[in-house]
Amino acid sequence: MTTVGILGGGQLARMLALSGAPLGLRFLVMDTETDACAGQCAPLLVGDYRDEAALAEFASKVDVTTFDFENVPAESAEWLAARVPVFPNPRALAVTQDRLVEKNLFRSLGIPVGEYAAISTRDELEARVAHIGGRCILKTRRLGYDGKGQFRIKSPADIDAAWQALGAQAQTVGLIVEAFIPFQRELSVVAVRGRDGEFRTWPLTENWHVDGVLSASLAPATVDAGLQAQAFAHARKLAEALDYVGVFALELFCTDGELLANEIAPRVHNSGHWTIEGAEVSQFENHLRAVLGLPLGDTRMLGHACMLNWIGDMPDRDAVLAEPAGHWHDYGKLPRAGRKVGHATLREDDRAALAASLQRIGVALGREAQVAPAIAALCD
Ligand code: AMP
Repeated sequence: MTTVGILGGGQLARMLALSGAPLGLRFLVMDTETDACAGQCAPLLVGDYRDEAALAEFASKVDVTTFDFENVPAESAEWLAARVPVFPNPRALAVTQDRLVEKNLFRSLGIPVGEYAAISTRDELEARVAHIGGRCILKTRRLGYDGKGQFRIKSPADIDAAWQALGAQAQTVGLIVEAFIPFQRELSVVAVRGRDGEFRTWPLTENWHVDGVLSASLAPATVDAGLQAQAFAHARKLAEALDYVGVFALELFCTDGELLANEIAPRVHNSGHWTIEGAEVSQFENHLRAVLGLPLGDTRMLGHACMLNWIGDMPDRDAVLAEPAGHWHDYGKLPRAGRKVGHATLREDDRAALAASLQRIGVALGREAQVAPAIAALCD
């Protein structure tokens, strides 16, 4: 019996465990919280990721380790890697934990990125914002997610407020300032690389965020074949450079027909949740296959799919279940503002049917604004 260890016990670990059950896998999830939602579906070890005794207990019980959460300390991943196979490897994890190191990697591989610079003082921030000359975003280099640890600078008058909000973190997690990209679309490549180097991608996905948090994803994104090939080539280059094993997402801005890389998520990704019902083999199953050295499954998609995130609290389940191809995912979390508590995926054979289904859901749930961008993209 193979036991897969997962560091982090959120919804990603939960969906990994659910998708691994038919493969006959056992799981052990480690999290700092006693109520981590993956604990409802798999045994949970509660402990701090820096606690060697807890890590040793975890390592003694698992055959392979992977992550639901990229901010596990890189040293803990290294410590585990000396005792049990860890995928993705700790170096890949370390690179993707730091926005500056990650952007430098994009650049070194010839993957276009927007203008950015490391910031350690308020004066540096002022000088950089003047140099960039337009809107900017100040972000923490490390430990930011879902729009947290970010401050939007619309004009030089916002510099004091930005420094007030994040300046103290310059000496702890570090800061980076980025030019604000006036993108027309946000796209993501969800890709998987096996232990033997085999590389596959699911079709490109278009994403919409609200306040920095993913709201909806639509696949396949309607983009020309050249752009899609470019996005896949960027993802492949990164996977090879990092000797990456498992699933990851590359988030891209599309501006005037050009792709600019935003960031890599070194794990299964929210913009790939639609693959559970919308692809031959989901991101969750393929991640497990990859880290276990099993043959990768087909990433081909079946029709068209749209995923809607439920943030804060769950809406009415019945409206989604009443849809011919509506799929419901409740993560078993307590409601809390800004928290991802569940999602729904609607899958249809053609674009018109998917747009109609989204329209019905938007009205039934009073979430017309959430479904509107995907409907517009489908009707384009
Ligand atoms: P991140 O945590 O970097 O993925 O940022 C979350 C979201 O904020 C992104 O998906 C974008 O919608 C927005 N965002 C982040 N960085 C930029 C940027 N440089 N220009 C424009 N929008 C951005």
